[in-house]
Order: sequence, then structure tokens, then C-alpha cells
Amino acid sequence: MTRVPRPRIVRAGALGASVKDTQVLTKFTDLGLDKMLLKALSDEGYETPTPIQAQAIPGVMAGKDLLGIAQTGTGKTAAFALPILHRLAADRKPAPRRGCRVLVLSPTRELATQIAESFKAYGKHMNLSVAVIFGGVKYGGQMRAMAPGVDVLVATPGRLIDHLQEKTITLQGVEIFVLDEADRMLDMGFIVPIRQVVKHLPRLRQNLFFSATMPSEIEKLAGELLRPNPTKVSVTPQATTVERIKQQVIFIEATRKRALLCELFAEKDFKRVIVFTRTKRGADRVAKSLESAGVEAAAIHGDKSQGQRERALAAFKAGEVRALVATDIAARGIDIDGVTHVIQYELPNVPEAYVHRIGRTARAGADGSAVAFC
Ligand code: AMP
Repeated sequence: MTRVPRPRIVRAGALGASVKDTQVLTKFTDLGLDKMLLKALSDEGYETPTPIQAQAIPGVMAGKDLLGIAQTGTGKTAAFALPILHRLAADRKPAPRRGCRVLVLSPTRELATQIAESFKAYGKHMNLSVAVIFGGVKYGGQMRAMAPGVDVLVATPGRLIDHLQEKTITLQGVEIFVLDEADRMLDMGFIVPIRQVVKHLPRLRQNLFFSATMPSEIEKLAGELLRPNPTKVSVTPQATTVERIKQQVIFIEATRKRALLCELFAEKDFKRVIVFTRTKRGADRVAKSLESAGVEAAAIHGDKSQGQRERALAAFKAGEVRALVATDIAARGIDIDGVTHVIQYELPNVPEAYVHRIGRTARAGADGSAVAFC
């Protein structure tokens, strides 16, 4: 699959935007969004679209499908909510009874609630109706909310299927379908429920698909759901992650690096560590020297087979190996929670790679440390 190039990170600024991006980016007022939306944005104090917004909004406004590779914190909610609301505003009509014009699927109730709040905030001047459906609460309120039909429904898959089976919700009138955090859906076992939901959707519709990572199963699902030639947008993690990372640099002679690396592993809190090397052979050498010092290690790089890589990752995830030694390319897209440390055995040639590397730790709200040998 071809991906659009990632935007260049010059400085890890808020929301993945950088000083440079902000200078070249348009303002919200340049995107041709409906006046009611611009008013709501100015109420929120937002002037400049984040990179994902700038890249996604024009295509979605024009009715194209979207494949967005982005995680929370990049401004992705507004990247889909704004052009969707623009389309609704351009074609006002009543929502179908017990149905909705826009369906957003979210993996968790927290995210569903947040998404609904965003739609309400951006749509506050356009008399918009929004409902949220998730499990763990009574059905009655949800049925009453859905009875007259709503413009936007945000739902988690399980409870939505219950309503579909009971015929208390219909998806016949859906014009735009958003699947958010597809990779988390996969982790939570929602792939089959998603396919079930999709069977209830009309064939002719606009699809927006978001995922932070693209494992093969997610890529397959995207291929099934999206129409040909979707707009593709990919943005890098946000700076707030980076702020939770303790960063250190150790100046060291090249010949002493191996010994120092092994010494670092004497620390008990070096539990799940990714070590970056510049070359494939370097990765193999470092993994070997760790092994001979009694630290369980595995190397992943472009010369390893898919099976070898998967086994190494699984062992790392399971805590069977403490050190995963990787090249930049092999580590791309790896999303493993609980990485305690990132060690840069050699510094990369480009600053972007430094940001990507340390972004492997401090995920999912955890703290992390990054050590660079220089
Ligand atoms: P999200 O990635 O959708 O969870 O958004 C992250 C946060 O950024 C949310 O609190 C949004 O309200 C905020 N946000 C989204 N777009 C912008 C923008 N263009 N300017 C400033 N803040 C924004």
C-alpha cells in the first residue's frame, strides 16, 4: 500500500504541528468550511488546522473516502467531524426515524463520549442532533434518544449490534461511516462485530477509516471498507508523549559502548527496552553481545523473515526477552505498551528519526526513559 509521506517534523510542537508547518498551513477560514463551523471554531479559539486536519478536510468535504493513520492528540476528531458537519450543513434534511445520517464507531465508551462532545461543540450553531450508544447502561434512554432519528450517532460496536438485532436502531439511512481507532478495535476483538455492523449499512456511502498503526489485518479491513483511491493521510505522534519521556545523553568512546549497554541492563527497571542501531549487522552484533552478557535479546531488521520478526516481537511483548534490538525501518509502526527504555546505541542521521525512536516509549499514558549514546 502506498502512503502519503509523513509531514516533516521540525520541532515537536503541540498536536504534531511544528513551527514550520504552521507557517505553510492555511487557516480554517481558507478551507471553505461552512460559516456556522467557522464561528464554532473561533469560539473554541482554534485558528490553524493541525497537519491531519489540513490534509484530510478538503478531500472529505469533497465526498472522498479517507484513510487516516493517526493517533489521539493529533486533532483527528476535528479532521473528520468538521468536513462531515460541513456536508450535513450543505444538505439539511431530517434524519431517518430510529436511524442516523452519520455513524461513528469507536472502541471505547470514553472515546465515543469525547467524539460526541466534539461534534456537539463544532456543530453548536447548526441545530445538530447527536446520540451516543455504548454498553453497560440501560437500553431505554438510548431507544428514546434514537426514536426520532439523529444526525450523528457515535457508538461502540457491541451495544450497537444489540440495537440492530432488536430493530431499535436502523442504519439504512447512513450517508457517512467513520471507523475510529481501528487497530484498537482489533486488539479488543471487535473485528467481527464491525463486519456485522457494516452489513447493515447501505452500499453507497462515504467511508472514513482511522488507525494509529496498520497491521495486516487492519489493512485488509480498510481495503474492504474503502472505495478505490481514498485520500491518504499519515501523521506522527504528538509532542505530549515526548514530554513524558526522560531524555539523557551519555558521551562515550565507541569501543566502550557494548560494555556500557550491558551495565545499563543491571538496573532492574530496564524491563522492556528497545535498542536502536543504524545498521542491520549492528543490530545482530548488539543482540549477540547482550545475550552473551546474560540479557535475553532479539534483533529485528529487514533481513529477518516476517516469521522471525513476529516471533521476536511476540517474545518481547510477552516479556520473554528484555531487549529488542532494531533498525529504524524495522521498528516503524511497532506499537508496544510498557516499553520502559529506548536506547540509541548510535544516533540517527536525521532529527526526525530521533523523535520517532523515543516515541516508542511512554505510550498509553506511561512514563519512559530515552538514553542516547554519543
Ligand atoms: P484529538 O486528536 O482529536 O483527540 O484532539 C486533541 C486535542 O486537540 C483536543 O482537545 C482538541 O480539542 C484539540 N484540537 C483539535 N484541533 C485543534 C486545532 N486546530 N487547534 C487547537 N486545538 C485543537
